[in-house]
Amino acid sequence: MIRTEKLYKLYGNNAVLNNINLQIGKSEFVFLIGPNGAGKSTLFKTIYRAELPTRGDVLVDDLSVPNLRRWQIPVLRQRIGVIFQDYKLLKYKTVYENVAYVMEVLDKPLEKIKKQVPQVLDLVGLLRKKDCKPAELSGGEQQKVSIARALVNNPRILLADEPTGNLDPDTSWEIMRLLDLINEQRKTTVVVATHDRNVVDTMRKRVIKMSSGRIVEDNMLGKYTDA
Ligand code: ADP
Repeated sequence: MIRTEKLYKLYGNNAVLNNINLQIGKSEFVFLIGPNGAGKSTLFKTIYRAELPTRGDVLVDDLSVPNLRRWQIPVLRQRIGVIFQDYKLLKYKTVYENVAYVMEVLDKPLEKIKKQVPQVLDLVGLLRKKDCKPAELSGGEQQKVSIARALVNNPRILLADEPTGNLDPDTSWEIMRLLDLINEQRKTTVVVATHDRNVVDTMRKRVIKMSSGRIVEDNMLGKYTDA
């Protein structure tokens, strides 16, 4: 599903990714932990092709991400949904419009948009707020909209980069439970970069730990351990 082979990313002399060899299977739920600057975001960026690696390969199913042709990039983007700490919602659009937009840019038929947007808003529990603007929502609700937006094109993979970094503990748990539910119900592969030690220790999933651009631990049913 996701495989990296001898993956390097250098900024000047700084190896932000230093020989990353990783395999994440279909329907897995994985935590990616490690201190700030460990390379977690950069690893995600090489997977969804916001950055090209300096050397090595990233495979998403049969697609070699660094070697994609221009026309294949939308194919990759449909396979991978991404959510961020700061939600990145369009503030002049409503909840519904924020989610519909990512179908519109892929030229999906209107009928499909009208069907799938309410379905995915219902999944995250926000259908009743579909006409609100992001500023009218709490942080947790905004993150749920960004999850709906990431899921609406039915990706096989969901990458979550510090999704609870701006949220209080109770709301963080709600978001993590939602990601777990999505993984269970839709069989979406979910990779969550997080500093939330409590969540990692309680959920007992596979934990991949990075430090200074390397993978330093990879445990099933892992615990959060300090670098
Ligand atoms: P994490 O997500 O684990 O906090 P990042 O992947 O964001 O780590 O960053 C890893 C390192 O790469 C940091 O030292 C950061 O300063 C550096 N870095 C990230 N992006 C760039 C860039 N565009 N130019 C130079 N250095 C960068």
